[in-house]
Amino acid sequence: MVTRYVLDATAFYAGTPFLSAGKQYCTTTVVFDEVRHIKKSFAALEALMDAGVLVLMDPDSKNLELVTSAAKKTGDYQKLSQQDISVLALAKQLNAVLISDDYAVANVAASMGITVESSSGKGIKQTRKWVSYCSACGVAFDPDAKECRLCGNKLKRRYKKLA
Ligand SMILES: [Zn+2]
Repeated sequence: MVTRYVLDATAFYAGTPFLSAGKQYCTTTVVFDEVRHIKKSFAALEALMDAGVLVLMDPDSKNLELVTSAAKKTGDYQKLSQQDISVLALAKQLNAVLISDDYAVANVAASMGITVESSSGKGIKQTRKWVSYCSACGVAFDPDAKECRLCGNKLKRRYKKLA
């Protein structure tokens, strides 16, 4: 079976030389609409689509919901665009490898068991989670919390590394 790859916008901005025949690449309509203005690679994109190497597909609503709830859990939801959510959902739906250089996308993908490769071919292994914390008390709260429950200070946000 041919390994399928889902490309996000950062993969297209990085250029397309890593695309090779014999593999199947997919992206979503919203990502394609975002990147089609990149003139230097648009001819290449059209050729890849004509050859059937690059295919446009859109995820179903069930997988979009899975991504939304996973992103809320990792605390990345506010950093994700509609395009980011669409490629995550498509990768989940197709059980495909996701190519992305976006850290929030990679983080949510990892939490959902989606394999991520960066466009340079290096994997992004570390999973991080946003936490909100109080700089006065040093106590961490869940990412949606706005105020410290102990002293009422406004919380700051930072990434917490997951082992
Ligand atoms: Zn506090």
